Amino acid sequence: MRIQENIPLAPFTTLHVGGPARYFVESHSEHEVSEAVAYAFARKLPLFVLGGGSNLVVSDAGWPGLVLKISLAGVEFEGDIQKMLFHVAAGENWDDFVALTVSKNCSGLECLSGIPGTAGGTPVQNVGAYGQEVSETITRVHALEIATGKTFDISTSDCGFAYRTSRFNTTHQNQFIVLEVSYRLHRNGDPKIDYADLKKFFAAGNSANPTLQQVRDAVRSIRQSKAMLIVEGDEDCRSAGSFFKNPIVSQAEADRVQSLAEKLVPGKALPRYPAANGQVKLAAAWLVEQSGFHKGYSLGPVGISRKHTLAIVNRGGAAANDILALKNEIQKKVFGTWGVSLQPEPVFVGFDRSDDR
Ligand SMILES: Cc1cc2nc3c(=O)[nH]c(=O)nc-3n(C[C@H](O)[C@H](O)[C@H](O)COP(=O)(O)OP(=O)(O)OC[C@H]3O[C@@H](n4cnc5c(N)ncnc54)[C@H](O)[C@@H]3O)c2cc1C
Repeated sequence: MRIQENIPLAPFTTLHVGGPARYFVESHSEHEVSEAVAYAFARKLPLFVLGGGSNLVVSDAGWPGLVLKISLAGVEFEGDIQKMLFHVAAGENWDDFVALTVSKNCSGLECLSGIPGTAGGTPVQNVGAYGQEVSETITRVHALEIATGKTFDISTSDCGFAYRTSRFNTTHQNQFIVLEVSYRLHRNGDPKIDYADLKKFFAAGNSANPTLQQVRDAVRSIRQSKAMLIVEGDEDCRSAGSFFKNPIVSQAEADRVQSLAEKLVPGKALPRYPAANGQVKLAAAWLVEQSGFHKGYSLGPVGISRKHTLAIVNRGGAAANDILALKNEIQKKVFGTWGVSLQPEPVFVGFDRSDDR
């Protein structure tokens, strides 16, 4: 185990902001993870678990304790004629793994192509896109409990998955380190083409019965057009993805916002989608746009992506506080206009609790 000191964290994140980790260690095995946890425990250092850094805003002050970078590698699979079970070490690059499953003609993850980060990060916020969520295919999360140093197999039903949440970012936040994730996929299964953007892509004549590979390529291409695929040199990719979650509200609240929309922006229908338990999902991007923000909006060295209203981007040389200033401005304006409180999707690291929302 090689403990390093005062390591800048910005290069480990896709937003490229944030100060240093007081201590930093990279773990390549379960044993090394246990050692790192014991090191932090013995010195009473706060521990932060880092994956691919694609869903983080690290404060300018950095992290006062130990940052543990998860670099466990390896993919194993087993299966029968219909199903394939993939066991993926937490540090594996997510999109490389999705490419592997598609190359083996296994369906279930194709719509999640092009999402940055690690496999271990996917259960944390129940990663989802283009009509799929990892909760649909995860069968087991193998994790180390920080308080006891013991490892557990956590079943899907015990993961508490919901829209962009799980037990790992709610009730048991910062209590487990994901070591390995198992996904059950369908061998020779059909690709999922439920999402409007994908339907439009294929209706435009690109293919009548697309293969898994074609769906993967389509998803990556759509993502690239929105700067939701990390492409070297594209400054609109210097983001943490969508910065705000789509608000899930009651029917009555959705009706209230809809009536307001009819008055404030006649002719611009409020997008609303059915969500779990009879609730309604509103489109955060629409609310942001109809509050006076546009693609390409700038506030100093940060701004809104030119290709995606929900992505806050670092245009170069930004500090975490600049990101926070734009986040606050957007939240304030959306709340002032629509009475809807937007919740950020990324994890805030090294801020006071009061800065979190
Ligand atoms: C351009 C772009 C597009 C994106 N598109 C999407 C999208 O379509 N859908 C979507 O859901 N997300 C999207 N994201 C967000 C992000 O990619 C995902 O949330 C991703 O799964 C985060 O994984 P990570 O390894 O980078 O985690 P990190 O950003 O490193 O960490 C995120 C959180 O997970 C925790 N964590 C990470 N690894 C572990 C582990 N092994 N054990 C315990 N905790 C861990 C961290 O402590 C932290 O709390 C996007 C991000 C970007 C930059």
